[in-house]
Amino acid sequence: MNETKSTCPYCGVGCGVVIEHDGQQITGVRGDPDHPANFGRLCTKGTNLHLTATPVVIQHQRLRQPQRRAERGAQPEVISWREANREIAEKLLAIRAEHGPESIGVYISGQLLTEDYHAFNKLARAVIGTPHIDSNSRLCMSSAVVGYKQSLGADAPPCSYEDIELADCILVSGANPAWAHPILFRRLEVARAAKPSHKLIVIDPRRTETAELADLHLQIRPGTDVALCHGLLHAIIARGWTADDFIAQSTEGFDTLKALVADWPPARAAEVCGVTAADIWQAAEWFATSPSSLSLYCQGLNQSSSGTAKNTALINLHLASGQIGKPGAGPFSLTGQPNAMGGRESGGMATLLPGHRDPGKAEDWAEIEALWGLDQNSGLPGKRGHTAVEMFEAAARGEIKALWIACTNPAQSMPDQATVRQALARCELVILQEAFAHTATARYADYLLPAATWGEKEGTVTNSERRISRVRAAVPAAAESRADWQIVRDIAALIDAGLGRAPRIAAATAEDLWLEHRDATRGRDLDITGLSWARLETDGPQQWPYVSGPTARLYTDGRFATTDGRARFITRPYQATAEAASPERPFALTTGRMRDQWHGMSRTGSVPRLFAHEGRPLVRINPGDAASHQLAEGALVLVQSSRGQVVLPLKLDANVAPAGADIAMHWGDEFIGAQLGVNAVTQGAFCPDSKQPELKFSAVAIEPAHLS
Ligand code: SF4
Repeated sequence: MNETKSTCPYCGVGCGVVIEHDGQQITGVRGDPDHPANFGRLCTKGTNLHLTATPVVIQHQRLRQPQRRAERGAQPEVISWREANREIAEKLLAIRAEHGPESIGVYISGQLLTEDYHAFNKLARAVIGTPHIDSNSRLCMSSAVVGYKQSLGADAPPCSYEDIELADCILVSGANPAWAHPILFRRLEVARAAKPSHKLIVIDPRRTETAELADLHLQIRPGTDVALCHGLLHAIIARGWTADDFIAQSTEGFDTLKALVADWPPARAAEVCGVTAADIWQAAEWFATSPSSLSLYCQGLNQSSSGTAKNTALINLHLASGQIGKPGAGPFSLTGQPNAMGGRESGGMATLLPGHRDPGKAEDWAEIEALWGLDQNSGLPGKRGHTAVEMFEAAARGEIKALWIACTNPAQSMPDQATVRQALARCELVILQEAFAHTATARYADYLLPAATWGEKEGTVTNSERRISRVRAAVPAAAESRADWQIVRDIAALIDAGLGRAPRIAAATAEDLWLEHRDATRGRDLDITGLSWARLETDGPQQWPYVSGPTARLYTDGRFATTDGRARFITRPYQATAEAASPERPFALTTGRMRDQWHGMSRTGSVPRLFAHEGRPLVRINPGDAASHQLAEGALVLVQSSRGQVVLPLKLDANVAPAGADIAMHWGDEFIGAQLGVNAVTQGAFCPDSKQPELKFSAVAIEPAHLS
């Protein structure tokens, strides 16, 4: 029996795993006792990882060879890599020549490794010359990126997981770590048990398993987070709990914000949010007066048409009370995916360039040109591109002619499915690079390229606490599948040859790509030029920035990443959600994670035991609403928004707030048995700053389904 250390491919906690194998097959997995994220623990998904790599799964559920469809709707036929690469390169060159580079979009995933991200980034911007590259991370954390940049000057979570043990008060806002980040929740449970004075405040419209543990649960109306933060800040100011010296020495903009929140006494915030003023006063006291207060937040803040405002409103509380830059304190955004952070670092998104540079700045493009060894006629696009929703809307309008999609399933996971599927159907060319064969997006693909996956590939990921961990191959890639970066490199070389130039992606190994990525961080807030691949091998996972050593905590000297070193109080008024509940559509629908499933279930759906916790799609509403709408437990109901509908069994659940509704995000059309999955009803309206769509609020009607 052999053992290979690697990293769990599911959530952003980034737990270390030990893969047990015989060199050909993975036979088991256990937690890595040396990994500082999990110290040997694994959650249910991680514990069962090896079952997603059994011979049966590889035989029947993996994409094993390159395939081509002669026409849409036809069965794909197996072709060679040589044919696939040549034909794809020729078709992309033809579309580029006829319609220009911007007619091609690249849509990738927070589950790719940093090295894959880097290769795709060069493919889009340097080889094809399109600005349109974005990631499904847009759907989970782009509001956190912009919130950090606006408030603190850089996209850098300032905290470490050890702050969970060090905090005296933890505020969990719009997150359910008990299900979505289980190992962090376990650390939280242990920390509370060891510290009787510990306070836990949870802000969530649902009474989740995390909320069950709380000393105080603020069960706000969906979308009212900014109003609540304004009320909390009003209380902090009114009681004199502000950190006046810190505000004077390390921040800007407090007086403007103070004037705004003067109009938000807790009584008003309580009315808007649907909680009591007494609870707001209590939460403000615990948060501001505890020796150290940490906030943990995720999609409940991010997936919103005011996602950035929600993030900055929460960070305002930390700045006002001085709860930042010290052990156990700070605003700590949790990432959903295993390498959402790596995607941000390597700039594989429409609004980012490598090393946290900005595609809106000409000087940043000039630096990238130099880093990538290109001359001034490089053809780099020099501007920001379409973000996820914008890219599919452009394709639906016929402006994007070709989409190259990797390691994600937009035909299930994107909001407003009717538009997304219209986009896929309209594209002249859809290339899907995937490990699993049976995703909804695969039905639209003209070419299917088999990608190696967890346990079969080399590279790195960065978890929520800025910790870079190695991902390692334990067994050969299944059948003919190849590492994502290799697939990109080989087709890119044919495109470059067709354009009469030398290959612009010349890497021979994952380490080569990582070294190029590392160079792009020099002198930046995420500088890792002091870190080597060899050190990752010998010393294990490391936190950035890493110039002469790892950095556990940022801003400890009261200096921030802005040009003048001062953090910014961001003054943004509370705004209602993009669409409102109405008499016709009285329910506020949120979508979220189940404990034991992952995203579109392409991996976890192959493991029967992961359905034991919850085995079928449901829509949950409060029993009081069921009574007033004459809906019965177990009945099939039609959930209908202005965009689409889905039929599901009804579950009565007192943990759902009145006038709320909840559906797990994972269920695709194959499970629901409808034309479209859950995202038939969700909306593409997005935050103007972060472009993150509002998956946490869709106005829906719920009524008995009359099936013919
Ligand atoms: Fe994997 Fe996240 Fe579970 Fe850790 S907490 S084992 S990273 S799914």
